[in-house]
Amino acid sequence: MKVLVIGGGASGMMAALTAAEDPHNQVTLLERQSRVGRKLLATGNGRCNLSNLHVSQAHYHGQQPDFVQPALTQFSVADTLAFFRSIGLLTVTEDSGKIYPFSDQSNSVVDVLRFALDQRGVRVCCGSEVQSIRKKARGYTVQTAEDSYFGDKVIVACGGAAGGKLGGTDLGYRLLQSLGHSVTALHPSLVQIKTDVSATRSLKGVRADAGILLKRNGKTVATNTGEVQFTDFGISGPAIFELSREVSGGGEMVLLLDFLRPYSQDEVLQYLRDKQQAVPSLPLEEFLTGCLHNRLGRVILKAAGFELTRTVETLTDADLTTICHHIKFFPLTVTGVMGLEQAQVTVGGVPTSEFRADTLESRLAPNLYATGEVLDIDGDCGGYNLQWAWSSGRLAGKLGK
Ligand SMILES: Cc1cc2nc3c(=O)[nH]c(=O)nc-3n(C[C@H](O)[C@H](O)[C@H](O)COP(=O)(O)OP(=O)(O)OC[C@H]3O[C@@H](n4cnc5c(N)ncnc54)[C@H](O)[C@@H]3O)c2cc1C
Repeated sequence: MKVLVIGGGASGMMAALTAAEDPHNQVTLLERQSRVGRKLLATGNGRCNLSNLHVSQAHYHGQQPDFVQPALTQFSVADTLAFFRSIGLLTVTEDSGKIYPFSDQSNSVVDVLRFALDQRGVRVCCGSEVQSIRKKARGYTVQTAEDSYFGDKVIVACGGAAGGKLGGTDLGYRLLQSLGHSVTALHPSLVQIKTDVSATRSLKGVRADAGILLKRNGKTVATNTGEVQFTDFGISGPAIFELSREVSGGGEMVLLLDFLRPYSQDEVLQYLRDKQQAVPSLPLEEFLTGCLHNRLGRVILKAAGFELTRTVETLTDADLTTICHHIKFFPLTVTGVMGLEQAQVTVGGVPTSEFRADTLESRLAPNLYATGEVLDIDGDCGGYNLQWAWSSGRLAGKLGK
């Protein structure tokens, strides 16, 4: 049987390798870029966070999050690691549950997949962008700029629209639409949050550990903890990425950052009182030196409304309470999120109701399958999106068997 896989990213390579396990299949992988796995190379900051020990349906979103269950069950995290071991990749699991290649290099993941494609006789055609797909009496023909290909079965593994520079595109949605499928609204997720930077512009590049509250119209809608990084357009870092999905929901939004989260408000206030006693003649601009990044300390004091030229001894107890409040609830007005171009993942896609969860075959176009991010599934930050790519690629590659 002739099998065409459109897209040589994470899920497409997994689907092609799986289909090629059946010696009766002749598998061709069509990739529009000059090499396979280009986005994969950039994942995890070049380290490729390829899975997570804590994978479960709870880490996935979309109109039908339970759609992921059959794929994740039939090709679990343990199965995925065993599979990668079988093609030569050793992995390491961090205490957080995040799983990386032992080499700490994403190119190891891409390379072992490439070698395996070669070993299993998959015909890999790079620089081959599929422009159209047509249903025939039997199977499908797909058209690239130069060639036409026939597949008894076709797997669409074109990924989502996020990460444009790395190959993110809407082509997969369009190919599926041409066969009668629909597409939900698309939003960026796992992306930097844009904020009013008038008070924080000088903090560009500063990193801090923070507790984070995201409020919409005064109500807390999400919380997180972890590293945040100030940028010239707002705020970034893994803990911020994880909240970005909520921001896409709109409304009047504010982030409240707690820069001394191991300490209660009373403890912080007591620290400030003790410090005032210890160094009364210190200029106020150095008051928070010793507990926070110097630049961050000054920005907090200014945002709390204080002149930095005065001395610490001039502060009243009410002033100390105000400063304490700004350390524990530093406000950033949210103005939006960065676009799909900068995002790691796309929220939305082709509705999963149009596919069978147990095979990933289309309910509208028989013998056509879809995998990975082109479907309306997005995962949390931490290896969940790649695990969906591996598990869905594996399931689709079985071609309904
Ligand atoms: C910067 C960045 C970092 C990330 N880090 C992580 C991480 O550490 N862990 C994690 O779990 N997830 C991470 N992700 C998300 C993860 O990479 C994706 O969710 C995953 O790669 C999706 O797999 P996929 O197979 O659906 O699509 P992709 O891996 O995007 O592959 C789709 C492929 O299809 C090709 N293609 C598209 N249209 C056509 C066409 N018409 N014809 C031929 N080829 C086509 C594309 O060029 C591409 O190679 C990251 C994403 C980005 C952008």
